Amino acid sequence: MLYFDYGAGMPLAREAFEAMEPFFFEHYGNPSSTHECGTPAHEALDRARGQVASLVGAGEKDRLIFTSGATEANNLALKGVARRARKRGTHIVTTAIEHWAVNTPLKALETEGFTVTRVPVEPSGIVDAGAVRDAITDETVLVSVMYANNEIGTLQPISEIAAYTNPKTCPLHTDATAAIGRVPVDASCGADLITLSSNDIYGPKGVGALYVREGVRIEPVMHGGGQEYGLRSGTENVPGIVGFGAAAELAARRLHEDMAHMRALQERLIDGITAAIPAVHLNGDRERRLPNNINLRFDYVEGESILLSLRVYDVAASTGSACSSKTLAPSHVLSALGQNNEEAHGSLQINIGRHTTAAEVDILVKKLPAIVRRLRLLSPLTPRDMQKELEESS
Ligand code: PMP
Repeated sequence: MLYFDYGAGMPLAREAFEAMEPFFFEHYGNPSSTHECGTPAHEALDRARGQVASLVGAGEKDRLIFTSGATEANNLALKGVARRARKRGTHIVTTAIEHWAVNTPLKALETEGFTVTRVPVEPSGIVDAGAVRDAITDETVLVSVMYANNEIGTLQPISEIAAYTNPKTCPLHTDATAAIGRVPVDASCGADLITLSSNDIYGPKGVGALYVREGVRIEPVMHGGGQEYGLRSGTENVPGIVGFGAAAELAARRLHEDMAHMRALQERLIDGITAAIPAVHLNGDRERRLPNNINLRFDYVEGESILLSLRVYDVAASTGSACSSKTLAPSHVLSALGQNNEEAHGSLQINIGRHTTAAEVDILVKKLPAIVRRLRLLSPLTPRDMQKELEESS
């Protein structure tokens, strides 16, 4: 299998697995227990919190709340801040390209009486910080802008936007799930709440965290025994959190090496494919983008048909977010770039990672032109002159 779907899932780092193992059989105590069996679990949580805090440059008085993943961290950030601020204001600002794990909790808040402004993005897939500033009113209690887009890889101007927000009155939340481990994500960017996911840094699935800057007013969504600073009740997933911590330490150590590796392969893929296939367009800005993401639009063919053809060669890629892959609706991210349904359906997403090799990239670059040529020959959308050319060259 040639795996180009690192955005949807990653293998566990061996270091994370080895750190987790003792917490299944040996140290099974509850971290909240005061007897000896709870101590290793409690200490392990502290250590993991330190490892993740260090990856994102959290200060001593900031809080890091472990959750069941990025979705839960987003729900806690959005609902927790908005509901707490309800008496002061009910307006929230976000962008048109957020992941469903931000979009849907915001829709839920709309049913509770909040109003949400979704700022459009430029055709490059980047939101204009000035447009976000202009959308903020005296009633605004929260701004949520993703750090990087998970489909088209574009990096958003978080530091610039942070100049218009305030941790106490109108905090800035950023969903950094797609960015963590791929580019530096540090609290010094000015975001007051940062969503993190373990599996995106080769940690276990089903674990995440929310970074909360000192002074941010937030209330829990999950009520119970008062774990995690009273903000996320429920016995902590100790093995998962330990694995997340180990993965975070490894990600911090390897960040620059991983970035350089992915950036080189990304260039190789974009240059190789665009040189070999006509009428291909890169979705999202080429410079201000994650090093792991390649999202290409092929005129006259459907991304789904390319995916099916690639499966014959045991190549796994995607056409968008794995979380919405069961719907036939065009990606809301590509629509936000101004693409019509036909254009938005013509995209293929390639996500590389730490273990991707140049040899794998070269196989994809070699296979893809023949697949696209065959699909274009069959497609009624292909212009006659291109079809004629394809016939003559095949
Ligand atoms: N936000 C973004 C940007 C994502 O790409 C994803 C999916 N990986 C999520 C949130 C949801 O993550 P999870 O399924 O871990 O809750």
